[in-house]
Amino acid sequence: MSEQQHRNKSGFETRAIHAGYEPDPTTGAVIPPIYATSTYKQDGVGGLRGGYEYSRSANPTRTALEGALAAVEEGERGFAFASGLAAEDTLVRALCRPGDHVVIPDDAYGGTFRLFDKVEQAWGLTHSPAPVSDVDAVRAAIRPGETKLVWVETPTNPLLNIGDIEALAAVAHDAGALLVVDNTFASPYLQQPLVLGADVVVHSTTKYVGGHSDVVGGAIVVRDLDVAEAVTFHQNAMGAVPGPFDSFLTHRGLKTLAVRMDRHCDNAERVVEFLTGHPAVSQVIYPGLEEHPGHAVAGRQMKRYGGMVSFRVAGGEAAALAVCERTEVFTLAESLGGIESLIEHPGRMTHASVAGTDLEVPADLVRLSVGIETVDDLIADLDRAFG
Ligand SMILES: *Cc1c(COP(=O)(O)O)cnc(C)c1O
Repeated sequence: MSEQQHRNKSGFETRAIHAGYEPDPTTGAVIPPIYATSTYKQDGVGGLRGGYEYSRSANPTRTALEGALAAVEEGERGFAFASGLAAEDTLVRALCRPGDHVVIPDDAYGGTFRLFDKVEQAWGLTHSPAPVSDVDAVRAAIRPGETKLVWVETPTNPLLNIGDIEALAAVAHDAGALLVVDNTFASPYLQQPLVLGADVVVHSTTKYVGGHSDVVGGAIVVRDLDVAEAVTFHQNAMGAVPGPFDSFLTHRGLKTLAVRMDRHCDNAERVVEFLTGHPAVSQVIYPGLEEHPGHAVAGRQMKRYGGMVSFRVAGGEAAALAVCERTEVFTLAESLGGIESLIEHPGRMTHASVAGTDLEVPADLVRLSVGIETVDDLIADLDRAFG
């Protein structure tokens, strides 16, 4: 089956495993080799083999990953980067110019907020925060003629707010802006924003796509060829590309995304059930719960509700910190989306930089990245930690 057929006709799992690569014509290698080379022999000046000239511009291991990323997001072109933030910076420079304006989530991933606030702003790009769950607030934050991008995450971190991608795309397009969706928390298995009308998807592939907490990376997937051209130029001109080893690891992770995500979701649902009944827990935050304000929208646009769970501890901050310090199977660490379960205190860890601002998170909040271990062990671990 040709690559185009894989993209158009195959199911998600088949695309994740086969798209982007045909077994190597000379050796038959089933898996893309790690092409540890910076440059390529030319057959006479300008006689490039397969278009490869220099590995910042393109490298076959990265090409395979980029094809697979495009296929799983049902986009036209995929691009791999050295980190999620490198992907974001490249995208902004490709699509905006100094003097432009962007709307960003009022609870954006901290690194994304810092990028817009400290780096892109110094370059002349202004931004307005708006809650992704409130379409009218996003519309009101747009400055017609000036706003080039409406940037959203859904679900958001750590409060798991949900943005209606279809409605937000309409609002962005009405104003002549593009909708960018950071799809890191859902992963392409659970949610495909381009199919819902978004123009660009970005990922920290460090999280669910890589999936094993062993590689940092980022991605952009686009559906429009003009946008693809601008990103292609900037990817090469700015040079924040992943090396072949990183590309290999990320691609290897992507192939098992579907089975991992289903187990992440199974385990998260069981953990939510346990927490919901627990006297030490005052609130469980999970889009799969009927009382979650984004439950209906999440049900429409996500296949399942994901592996991230947040909860508030009835005993307050000290009790929340104690839970984080007492678990043994859940590892106390930042990041998310790996096979191993992680626990963290957003107020003191991932979200410490927004303390004292409008973005401050509750001090009694705990965030879980539910892994794919034996779920009974995860529940027993939390039960023990509550003491
Ligand atoms: C981690 C993360 C990023 C940044 O990605 P890096 O790979 O750490 O640079 C961006 N968005 C979200 C939602 C994230 O969780």
